[in-house]
Amino acid sequence: NRQIVLDSRPQGEASAANFKLLTTDTPALADGQVLVRHHYLSLDPYMRGRMNEGKSYAQPQPLGQVMIGGTVGEVAESRNPKYAAGDKVVGMGGWQEYSVVDGNQPGALRKVSTSQVPLSHYLGAVGMPGVTAWYGLVKIIEPKAGQTVVVSAASGAVGSAVGVLAKKRGARAVGVAGGAEKCRYVTEELGFDACIDYKQHKDAQSLSQALKEACPGGVDGYFENVGGIVLDAVLLRANSFARIAMCGMISGYDGKPIPMQYPQLILTNRMRIEGFIVSEHMEVWPEALAELGQLVGSGELKPRESVAQGLESAPEAFMGLLRGRNFGKQLVKLV
Ligand code: NDP
Repeated sequence: NRQIVLDSRPQGEASAANFKLLTTDTPALADGQVLVRHHYLSLDPYMRGRMNEGKSYAQPQPLGQVMIGGTVGEVAESRNPKYAAGDKVVGMGGWQEYSVVDGNQPGALRKVSTSQVPLSHYLGAVGMPGVTAWYGLVKIIEPKAGQTVVVSAASGAVGSAVGVLAKKRGARAVGVAGGAEKCRYVTEELGFDACIDYKQHKDAQSLSQALKEACPGGVDGYFENVGGIVLDAVLLRANSFARIAMCGMISGYDGKPIPMQYPQLILTNRMRIEGFIVSEHMEVWPEALAELGQLVGSGELKPRESVAQGLESAPEAFMGLLRGRNFGKQLVKLV
């Protein structure tokens, strides 16, 4: 079993050299345990926070241990009557080729069907990122038909689902993404009403002009994934009583400060800003996953994926995710 462990903590920007590849034996199974062979490993922005020592909302990743992470795979061997060899399962197997899981621990493994939804999408649109989109949009932004919702990192795992869910609720969906190709996918394949390439704008004033054209009725809800000039530009276009779902601020994860130019607009517009962590809202997962699975199955939500090949490619692929080189959900294919 090959594994990737966190070998050192980043000083400033993270690098692939913070990780180390090891080979270990897979232990024999005890009663109740299941051996899972991972097909895909999920790379997610939250992993950057875990590389640091300081406590954020997630515990730091201990040095020398397998990096945490979501996985999908197949049961290779089972000593638990609830699982049989060949079952497809979602879990938190980490950055390794196999994991041994206590099949009796609630929530440790979830059996999934691949008849309507390809296995890899259970790490993206029909998994944690999709539920994140659903929670922030439905429970915090609560869009009404005809209102305008803006989402940043719009071509990504979370952002793509936000726009499709907003359109389903009769809202106008406007994306912000890096580059013409990502923007084309957002409007043409996901069906957003407009998408703005923030890289064409040097400051918040200029970006807010582009937002003015894309959002003629102003902005009623903003799903925040990045921070920086995108947040400032949206504040300049926000309507009274607009809501912001504070989901992520990826532009600051690698150690750079995130300046905010117009915080006073939160007051003058009487806005509501709410941060959330998707794993603290397990009560919505079944409803959210049902809707997301149906949207993917029907082809209304067409998730994109960036797939790196082989466990050894995970550290570089993760650096790419933090720098916007991924296009859609970043995965590592192991089998
Ligand atoms: P994505 O698939 O959207 O990938 C990250 C994207 O962020 C990149 O493709 C890039 O898109 C953009 N990006 C990267 N670096 C920067 C930067 N410096 N400035 C601006 N944009 C940048 O990732 P996810 O969909 O998995 O995650 C999206 C957000 O949701 C993250 O902030 C993440 O932390 C958050 N999240 C929060 C959860 C919660 O419970 N609160 C749960 C899951 C995710 P582009 O090229 O368009 O800039």
